[in-house]
Amino acid sequence: MDSREIIQVDDETQTTECNGGGGPLGHPLVYLTFDDGDTVDCYYCSRRFAKARSLKPKGAAQ
Ligand SMILES: [Zn+2]
Repeated sequence: MDSREIIQVDDETQTTECNGGGGPLGHPLVYLTFDDGDTVDCYYCSRRFAKARSLKPKGAAQ
């Protein structure tokens, strides 16, 4: 279960949506809110949405 997908979104994103990728593995469209964190997990399919800045290694050049 460690192979969960991570979907990168813009740093400014407040809300994202997930339908599980559609198709037979999909689920109803849900909206996920980045409260005050940089990541949010879909409660249907456990895919993780992460703001771009949270995926960059610390100290990486822009
Ligand atoms: Zn999902």
